[in-house]
Amino acid sequence: MHPQTLTLDADAEFGLEPIEVAPRLWWVGSRIEGDPFQCHVYLLEQGDQSVLFDPGSVLTWSDTLEKIEKIISFDDIRWFVVHHQDPDVCGAMPEIDAMITRDDARWVTHWRVAVLLKHYDPKVPFWLVDEHDWKLDLGARALEFIFTPYLHFPGAFVSFDKATGTLLSSDLFGGFTGDNRIFSAGMVDFEGVRAFHEHYMPDRDILLNAMLKLEKRPIEMIAPQHGKLIRDDDVTTYITRLKNLDCGLYLLAKTDTDIRHLQALNRLLREAVETMATERDFRVIIGHIFEEIGEVMPMKSTDIVCRMSDDAALWLSSLDRFRGTDIKLPAGIRGLTVDAEGWTEGIANDVTSVGFPVEVGENDSVLPLFSAERAEFLGVAILRVADDFKTSAELDDALHRISQPISIAIERELVNRMLDSERNAMYERSIRDPLTNLYTRRYLDESAARLIEVHQRNEDAGFALLMVDIDHFKAVNDTHGHVVGDEILVAVGGVLLEMCRKADFAVRFGGEEFAVLMPLTSRDDAAELGERLRSSIEDLHTDTTDGTVDVTISIGVASHCPAEPLADTIKKADMALYRAKETGRNKVCIDPGCGDSGP
Ligand code: GH3
Ligand code: MG
Ligand code: MG
Repeated sequence: MHPQTLTLDADAEFGLEPIEVAPRLWWVGSRIEGDPFQCHVYLLEQGDQSVLFDPGSVLTWSDTLEKIEKIISFDDIRWFVVHHQDPDVCGAMPEIDAMITRDDARWVTHWRVAVLLKHYDPKVPFWLVDEHDWKLDLGARALEFIFTPYLHFPGAFVSFDKATGTLLSSDLFGGFTGDNRIFSAGMVDFEGVRAFHEHYMPDRDILLNAMLKLEKRPIEMIAPQHGKLIRDDDVTTYITRLKNLDCGLYLLAKTDTDIRHLQALNRLLREAVETMATERDFRVIIGHIFEEIGEVMPMKSTDIVCRMSDDAALWLSSLDRFRGTDIKLPAGIRGLTVDAEGWTEGIANDVTSVGFPVEVGENDSVLPLFSAERAEFLGVAILRVADDFKTSAELDDALHRISQPISIAIERELVNRMLDSERNAMYERSIRDPLTNLYTRRYLDESAARLIEVHQRNEDAGFALLMVDIDHFKAVNDTHGHVVGDEILVAVGGVLLEMCRKADFAVRFGGEEFAVLMPLTSRDDAAELGERLRSSIEDLHTDTTDGTVDVTISIGVASHCPAEPLADTIKKADMALYRAKETGRNKVCIDPGCGDSGP
């Protein structure tokens, strides 16, 4: 008779009664108050072939026995499965062994476990899973054993009850738990499992190997020795998650063995690397990484100063979301020729003393950044922490590890910025006339194309064009030579640059001809500027290598009519310029067409 068959809902809790967690599979454990590792014992009820899994410790055996006897007689148990030899699993072995009266009873385990269990000196013989093809036939029911070596003992294995699809998983899938609930409820409880495995399982590949074996079985429920039972969709999710879990966190620890701390540091590293792999945008990457660091230390701000050239540096600050500012290379970095190995606290302190754009406090971390091959010193990341925060050896260690992904992101960003500025310089060269520094005709074409588009959409947004030509320039060259001619060109160009508004484009159109493109300007206003230019040049009296030289200019003014190609506007301004030349030079003439365009 079943003393209690629960309708197991999601809120069911472990308690004083045995619990039938699957048909004729009972939880008969004993809860120790306040123990996050609570240990479970399971009984498979199968007449006189019944099986007890991981019978437990001397602390819990009397409780467990009481529960068993509410279901069957102790003597109905023939098989005592011990998945590994830890005392919470089988510390009660001598006591149990002494109770067993039937001759056909067996301790079921792996040979590597048996060589340890034999030191309990049991009189009941061992039945080794590895000698029985990893199967146990119970008549109407069968158990399958699956080898999960090194998790967490070389001879560790788990049991699968085919009839109910239940995996009795020993330490695997176990978790820390803070409550009495029987069943895991999704990802909240997975955090307890994650913590347990990251810390307890030695290595990701070893865990993966076991998961690959397990996932081939039609598992419907997992009954671990610790924590909560896992069923329904959670089974697949847990297996998938454990396949990708980082394990062996103790390897990270130098002195700190606090599991939650280690976990946080490990997550920090993993997420930094994941961010690098999934994000392209530098500011997103660096923002994410430092957000993660903020999870393990109370950050005020982060500043990165990296070397761009022998005297320039890039300063990236969390305060402007890593937009970046060009600064002079701080002296502390300029003098630095260390490599990764040579970086010591002493050097770090030296660096903090000179020339950073931010103050570096005593508790702040200064992380050196090196290029991928760890050869070239890139700069430093200054992690400014809350005043009362003291770092630890582990945290420093984790930060130094994380400096690698940061360095890679920074190096990539530096290269991108260099390419950008290279491209900009090339573009600048293509749009600037090297002699006068005015824009080139090519740039006039580009800018005018944009303005013409705007004018097309908005007929009030016209523009005006001045065509400017130096009078009798040939005579200047002939009299004073080409060098002086060039000096005059530079001087006239200088006046144009100086007198034009910011929004205007002063262009060297060719030879001694110039143009001024004036967005949102009426023809009359343009003519007014033309007149001021003309009179300024007249008054210029340029000092040249051949003494003072005077020149004058003639100007033609036109405004752009909607939908008119630039060439036509130029032609109109040229016609006006021609008239200015024809009627005596040193003059401004206006084209009569489209007079009302522009503001
Ligand atoms: P006008 O008043 O009719 O414009 O007479 P002009 O002599 O200025 O006219 P023209 O177009 O006949 O002569 C332009 C001269 O400008 C011819 C050329 O030698 C000179 N020139 C063109 N480009 C340069 C340059 O880059 N440097 C120098 N020094 N002279 C240039
Ligand atoms: Mg000319
Ligand atoms: Mg001329």
